[in-house]
Amino acid sequence: MDSRLTEVLVCPICKGPLFLSRTDARTELHCAKCAKGYAVEGDIPVMLEKEARDLTAEEVEAARIRPAA
Ligand SMILES: [Zn+2]
Repeated sequence: MDSRLTEVLVCPICKGPLFLSRTDARTELHCAKCAKGYAVEGDIPVMLEKEARDLTAEEVEAARIRPAA
């Protein structure tokens, strides 16, 4: 995924910065404020509130420490 992409992406709920979370299994954009995770399918982030999943406390902490923007 192009790292420049995260610069223009904000959380659709709070308009805050998103943290890019990448593992071998998946890529997601995380919002620490809302504790929501948005899937990235291919190179396309799914920025829909109803598609977002709830983040774990650990994931929220990671997003808080290292915001993408
Ligand atoms: Zn948010």
